Amino acid sequence: MATLFVVGTPIGNLEDITLRALRVLKEVDLILCEDTRVTKRLLSRYDIETSTMSYHAQSKLAKVDKILSLLGEGKNVAIVSDAGTPCISDPGMLLVSQVLERLPLVKIVPIPGPSALVTALSATGISVAEFTFLGFLPHKKGRETLFKEIASSSRVMAFYESPHRVEKSLEALEKFCGAERRIIVARELTKIYEEFVRGTVPEVRTHFAENPDRVRGEFVVIISPRGRLIEDGE
Ligand code: SAM
Repeated sequence: MATLFVVGTPIGNLEDITLRALRVLKEVDLILCEDTRVTKRLLSRYDIETSTMSYHAQSKLAKVDKILSLLGEGKNVAIVSDAGTPCISDPGMLLVSQVLERLPLVKIVPIPGPSALVTALSATGISVAEFTFLGFLPHKKGRETLFKEIASSSRVMAFYESPHRVEKSLEALEKFCGAERRIIVARELTKIYEEFVRGTVPEVRTHFAENPDRVRGEFVVIISPRGRLIEDGE
């Protein structure tokens, strides 16, 4: 019976890929890519010549049907996103759920790799035994409620952010959380300009206001909870 592999790929540095991921990408019959041009850079770095097909957030059910019929014929398929782990704020979950529902004999095998969320959390220096991941924040509906939730939370909160919206989100964080909470903004993880900006919300906002050239790239924002001690082994 066929297998659908959900494969984690680098979030910047192309060395961040597991031996198992490379073997699977070499051995499968087809790789589904969020953007084939992005994935081909990774594949050519490792001399992988497997066929690719695009599968992204806008892909229609007809595309899912086509992939399911390939799996039904016994073809092994891998799905990757442009960066990190598929299905985590990335395409893939519709396909996985359709396979589970319609082809119960097909195995779903995750091949663990990087994720911007876990990479950022690992370098925070705060206890992240428990955290709440918010994905991308809504632009309008529910946004204020979410910031109120962040302000009142005694858990670490984390969200993904784009360069176009990061300053707006920091402004909202200051409005709802004030100057007490410490935050970490992780930018361009694993890339040349990797940066961790740590401090109170006003301090971090000042950093970006004074360095507009750093309001670029990709961001993970982490908000520490109130009054928690740093403990090891959590
Ligand atoms: N599935 C991916 C993962 O597991 O890392 C996340 C994909 S999501 C579409 C893209 C968002 O992830 C970016 O807007 C940014 O918030 C975050 N991200 C991805 N790569 C990053 C990096 N190298 N540094 C910081 N954040 C990153």
